[in-house]
Amino acid sequence: MLTNYINGEWVKAKTSEYESVPNPATGEEIARTPLSTKEDVDDAVQAAKAAFKSWKKVPVPKRARYLFNYQQLLIGKHDELAELITKENGKTFDDAYGEVQRGIECVEFAAGAPTLMMGESLPEIATGIESGMYRYPVGVVGGITPFNFPMMVPCWMFPLAIATGNTFVLKPSERTPLLAERLVELATEAGIPKGVLNLVHGAHDVVNGLLEHEDVPAISFVGSQPVAEYVYKTGASYGKRVQALAGAKNHSIVLADADLDKTIEGITSGAFGSAGQRCMATAVVVAVEEIADELVERLKKSADELLMGDGSDRSITLGPVIRQSHLDKVKGQMEEAISEGAKLVRDGRDVPTEAGNGYFLGASIFDHVTPEMKIWQEEIFAPVLSIVRVKDLTEAIELTNKSKFGNGSVLYTNSGKAVREYREDIEVGMLGVNVNVPAPMAFFPFSGWKDSFYGDLHANGKDGINFYTKRKMLTQRWH
Ligand code: NAD
Repeated sequence: MLTNYINGEWVKAKTSEYESVPNPATGEEIARTPLSTKEDVDDAVQAAKAAFKSWKKVPVPKRARYLFNYQQLLIGKHDELAELITKENGKTFDDAYGEVQRGIECVEFAAGAPTLMMGESLPEIATGIESGMYRYPVGVVGGITPFNFPMMVPCWMFPLAIATGNTFVLKPSERTPLLAERLVELATEAGIPKGVLNLVHGAHDVVNGLLEHEDVPAISFVGSQPVAEYVYKTGASYGKRVQALAGAKNHSIVLADADLDKTIEGITSGAFGSAGQRCMATAVVVAVEEIADELVERLKKSADELLMGDGSDRSITLGPVIRQSHLDKVKGQMEEAISEGAKLVRDGRDVPTEAGNGYFLGASIFDHVTPEMKIWQEEIFAPVLSIVRVKDLTEAIELTNKSKFGNGSVLYTNSGKAVREYREDIEVGMLGVNVNVPAPMAFFPFSGWKDSFYGDLHANGKDGINFYTKRKMLTQRWH
């Protein structure tokens, strides 16, 4: 049974309710997450509030030094952390290893706080008058994270938040609580003082506790679209600043001049990597008619080569989805797609695996999908790829823009002219050209559009700095 981390101590949650955490590849219970209460949230917020008083006064280069220590510890534990991600999330070791790398990069970015937090000034804004802008932390930040990136997403939040002088209460996904605990343990080992980083396990009660708490001025959220919208609206109604990163339905457009070998490789990885459970996963391929038949045939063959099973075996290339309930839901969505007329050209539902009681779905491909079908409209979050056929790039862009989501998109082509049309006209925030998953690195904002994001300032990059700091303007004249 897991405990919360409050004010530098592991403490039992004030609840009798626990949620079982199975290893998705085997179905075996590996932990029990306490469904903490609003009282637990208050304890953590009070600890963070008290710590904020001294933490905000710690010189910024000294705060950055803690992050350098932390980065070293994380690098030293790269394999261990990846193994833990595989165990609780199910993704393959390679995917987990890449995720740890992404998390470490966030810590590296945050360690630049002394430069990133600098203000601005103009010595002669009027005769004898100067103006300066100074940055300050906002206070106690609440962070709420999803199951699909147990390391990377928390690392989008707390390293930058604490480097800029805030204190933090992390509420990780109740489905993947273990890696979050390890992150907190290592932060303590790196010397980060008690109360600066706290962890409260649980589900909606903890989220509501943070949203309603008067001593929490800022909320960072990443998760599904309906919850992101709820968190944004509720947080705003309590006068908080909120960044809420949401679900997606990412379209990859393939033109006739694309390098087909590389394109197949890219789409296979984009659609089936992490079992399709990425907010930047390729969910829809928009293929121009001339190459669509060949593309579908070759994608099927490429999917046949994936080796499904328990990701703790490093030769495995396709892991399970997160829960049996999710697998059942996805199978229902696939049934519905068939009844709506989509052509299931590769059915992953019956692909055998050696892995026992895990929640496995083989790579699945639907051809002749249209925007009228639910399989095109909804996020499926599993290794299920839809193919839509179009006449040309303009039609492909129009189709992509019909989606209510606008997280990521990729164009596979060799034409600079096509890239320009795509970049100018597509209504999506994170674009790739011949890149399988165009997720920006920590130095840039994670820039989803439309229903993939609620708020103004995105996670990471300069947006992250602006989100975790408030500004003071000083205009002065000396006589
Ligand atoms: P989720 O929305 O179920 O859960 C996310 C967090 O919200 C969890 O901590 C959970 O405890 C909490 N939560 C869930 N239901 C709640 C409710 N009713 N009230 C209050 N809190 C609630 O998401 P998930 O299934 O863990 O993660 C997958 C989703 O996250 C996908 O939709 C994916 O696209 C999205 N995601 C988006 C990004 C992005 O950058 N846009 C990144 C990663 C994941």
